[in-house]
Amino acid sequence: MIVYFPEPYENELYYSLLARYHSYSTDIAASSTLRELSGTTKRINFDVPMGIDNLISKIKKFSNLYSKDYFIQYHTIIPIIKPFRKLEWIENLKKSDFKGQKSNLFGNTEKDVKSKEHLYYCSECLKEQLEEYGEGYWNRVHQMPGIYVCTYHRKALSEHFINIRNNKEINFYLPKIEESYKMQKNYNEYVLTSLLNLAEDVEYLLEKNFDAFPEEYYYEKYVTLMEIKGIAYPVLQRENRLKSLMTSYYPPEFLEILNSDLNNSSWLPKFTSNKIVNNLHPIRHLLLMRLLSGSARDFYENEYLYKPFGTGPWICMNPLADHYLKKVVKKVDVSVHGLNRTIQGDMKCSCGFIYRVRAWEQSPLDIKYFNNRIMQKGHIWEQKFNDLIEHKLTITEISNIIKMSRPTVSKILRDRKKLTKTDLKEEEKNKKVNKKTSEYKEIWLDLRAKHPKYYRNELNNTNRAVYTWLRKYDNEWLEANSPKIKKRNYVRKIIL
Ligand SMILES: [Zn+2]
Ligand SMILES: [Zn+2]
Repeated sequence: MIVYFPEPYENELYYSLLARYHSYSTDIAASSTLRELSGTTKRINFDVPMGIDNLISKIKKFSNLYSKDYFIQYHTIIPIIKPFRKLEWIENLKKSDFKGQKSNLFGNTEKDVKSKEHLYYCSECLKEQLEEYGEGYWNRVHQMPGIYVCTYHRKALSEHFINIRNNKEINFYLPKIEESYKMQKNYNEYVLTSLLNLAEDVEYLLEKNFDAFPEEYYYEKYVTLMEIKGIAYPVLQRENRLKSLMTSYYPPEFLEILNSDLNNSSWLPKFTSNKIVNNLHPIRHLLLMRLLSGSARDFYENEYLYKPFGTGPWICMNPLADHYLKKVVKKVDVSVHGLNRTIQGDMKCSCGFIYRVRAWEQSPLDIKYFNNRIMQKGHIWEQKFNDLIEHKLTITEISNIIKMSRPTVSKILRDRKKLTKTDLKEEEKNKKVNKKTSEYKEIWLDLRAKHPKYYRNELNNTNRAVYTWLRKYDNEWLEANSPKIKKRNYVRKIIL
């Protein structure tokens, strides 16, 4: 029976708790302590709370706080992975009591951000811990992949000598002050700043303890941010433009430390599908977030909207509307130009007038060939234009009023005439067809009355012309007014 359990310190790694318990226990063998606390004798997995069910059953008498979720949230590195996985990921881990978990929770490959092979600690933090509590412990933040600095003391961490990935022995270590200065790196100012920023973003994720986000969340937010940065289009160049932005933003040594330099191969998502984004290592997500939005906090807490044309309202460009040049247009449809893949906006006014603006154009009044940008003139324009013609205005007068050149006005008038002519012709033709169809229907009904016993095919043969016409112009009527189709008697061939 356990008569004592150390009270966890802030951000203390789960393993550190077991190690501290061991340092007070009378058990000399670490394996006995591990068995007692976690119910297992397997090698230690530093990423997960090993045997958490067993431990809670033994220590819950010491505090109501102790639960599986409590240890996961405050004493493991899981909160930085959880927001990037599906909800089932953590649920399944919890259900299985973290059994059968590989020694690396990130499941990363050679090319990914490397998980740490050693435990890390800050020598300054350790000094303070020793002064305040008389003992040191492992801070979970310092064990995260990519974290090599203490944000509190703004200096490099020390690396403990034991390799936690290869070590098969069960042992409990705690940081020691006399070892701390040997394994401490020096980073230049730029690298240090980048490392500190990344550590701050990791701390933000720990503080928030987010659950899984919807599948499209990251993809959509990154794309919006790329749009705002002006690197989203053309789509096929997103990855390259993102790469240039990233290599100019982060010092190369910093990206190398994270195994994320972009010299030889690119780990950047292509951003043509959201699945690829969801496979990214959490640290690489944080790199993207800071690059595109300033920090993880900004990324998660701000809503980003891509508004290449500002917030509006925009002016109406319909010279025939009462509100010409007034800011009354409230709707803009943003799209990507089919050929050159640039951003364009269709300004849709309530008067029916629609004009197109490109993303870099400041004002529609500066567009040189504005007539080419009129996508739709709308009902008000058409109505007023008809009035002008009815009042017998000259082409020059019309041209002045509708703000179009004289040749354009002439063309509009010519097109209208052509249209009216074609309309008339079409109408005439329809009349003829309808007349003939009615006549043929009469003939067809007469034929049916004359030959009441005829099957469909026999009746068709009596007047092919009528049948073909009706089939073409009113098949529905023909179907409803035709006799049955004669069923054929098929003779089944018997093959012997
Ligand atoms: Zn520190
Ligand atoms: Zn308008």
